[in-house]
Amino acid sequence: MSARPPRILLIEDNAANRKLIGGILRTAGHEVHEVVSADEGIALAIAEPFDLVVMDIQLPGTDGLTATRVLRDRSDTRTLPVLALTAHAMDGDERRAREAGCDAYLAKPVGYKVLLAEVARLLEAPRGDKTT
Ligand code: MN
Repeated sequence: MSARPPRILLIEDNAANRKLIGGILRTAGHEVHEVVSADEGIALAIAEPFDLVVMDIQLPGTDGLTATRVLRDRSDTRTLPVLALTAHAMDGDERRAREAGCDAYLAKPVGYKVLLAEVARLLEAPRGDKTT
């Protein structure tokens, strides 16, 4: 384990979901930074070091898949793990998320245990280059 708590960037436009997901992650000891738009999230991910992004896919303006592609296209955020969240668990959503460069995908409503297990797995995984 690192000496500091993992820093997680939560990009979610829905206030109730931000409160729920942010609360779960903080309870687990993570340092959570919340933003409400992809553009804010991209700017913060570039400006500060993070260990993981939790990315809502359905966002007003720039959507989460587009934002993930932006992160993947930059050398400084290329290996930053992205956990995608979507409100619609439809066939093809997971494939689209992975094609955009997301490392993992969860459908809302996200359960406490599943979220923390997925976050822990991504934080422990070696960071690879996902552009190939
Ligand atoms: Mn949303």
